Amino acid sequence: MAKHITILPGDGIGTEIMTEAVKVLDALIAKGLDVTYEQKLFGGAAHDSTGSCLPEDTLEACRACDAILLGAIGGPVYDKLPRDERPERGLLKLRSTLELFSNLRPAMLFPQLADASSLKPELVAGLDLMILRELTGGIYFGEPRGISTDDSSGNERRGFNTMVYTESEITRIAHSAFRIAMQRGKRLCSVDKANVLEVSELWREIVTTIGAEYPEVELTHMYVDNAAMQLVREPKQFDVMVTSNLFGDILSDAAAMLTGSIGMLPSASLDVAGKGMYEPVHGSAPDIAGQGIANPLATILSLAMLLRYSFDEAASADRIEQAVAKVLDQGLRSADIAADGESVSTSAMGDAVVLALST
Ligand code: NAD
Repeated sequence: MAKHITILPGDGIGTEIMTEAVKVLDALIAKGLDVTYEQKLFGGAAHDSTGSCLPEDTLEACRACDAILLGAIGGPVYDKLPRDERPERGLLKLRSTLELFSNLRPAMLFPQLADASSLKPELVAGLDLMILRELTGGIYFGEPRGISTDDSSGNERRGFNTMVYTESEITRIAHSAFRIAMQRGKRLCSVDKANVLEVSELWREIVTTIGAEYPEVELTHMYVDNAAMQLVREPKQFDVMVTSNLFGDILSDAAAMLTGSIGMLPSASLDVAGKGMYEPVHGSAPDIAGQGIANPLATILSLAMLLRYSFDEAASADRIEQAVAKVLDQGLRSADIAADGESVSTSAMGDAVVLALST
């Protein structure tokens, strides 16, 4: 049976970049990819026409489908809404309703764009690293938390948070990471702080135990301080990294910046069954919305990730990634990645990827 995608273009450049990703999807469907899709309103656009950023109809479509492709949401006009009605709240609600606990943040650098990185080109050209961040547990959610004024001295406030993981939370992110490693280079590095934190000790023990179920994957462990150092020293040593919410938040942003271009980076959040929501790392870019100059490649690469990780369509994912590499080889650049100022429009970039798919 055909797999079904719910498409949420969203706001700002979201609609522009999604138009290009849909062109690519249509081209693959025309060549036999067994996928159907429908678009739904989400974010500020949904608020404008229904009064809700996440209308019930959209939520239902997201529940019922096999994967979701999101453009971007938000914009200055919606920042004036009451906090609970803002697009960002809709996104958090969607992630929590669908229990998307495994956040995939690839850092890929096409060799053609190696000059965009702040690191030396030879250190980053061809970088293809995947960071899995646990998204719904750890210190961002742990209890107790707060700022207390009832300390024994009576004259000092105390801020505190709790880093906590249950065995089942570690088990499911570990399985997610091993499965991703199996679909890539079969090398997994688990990042923790087991020399200091008991929660990391448990993390390391459970990841190691789960590893026995994936004998083909080479598992290593690294302390987070060393991982941060290694990311900027020799990032190409890694294939897949898995880590907790806090460590992943920091390491994935550092890794993203190794690539130098936010307009090129896809991401995903998966549930326990591998269903996911795929989206570019960037936001709705209100400063360039409506100008037809946004880079659609992060969204097109998000579609490739969707096909690879939720639909097991590695061949189609490879074709998209190769088509993107081909247009970069041809010298096509959107404004954000054009070093010499010569650039093509959003739609010209999308058309070029579609053309490259068929040649
Ligand atoms: P942003 O990522 O939208 O933009 C940051 C800078 O990068 C801007 O200069 C923008 O022009 C540029 N940029 C981003 N994507 C680009 C692309 N594809 N091509 C070319 N240039 C690109 O971040 P921001 O300005 O902090 O946020 C703008 C809005 O997006 C806010 O309302 C924010 O809440 C929202 N946002 C949404 C998401 C999401 O939908 N998941 C993520 C982040 C931010």
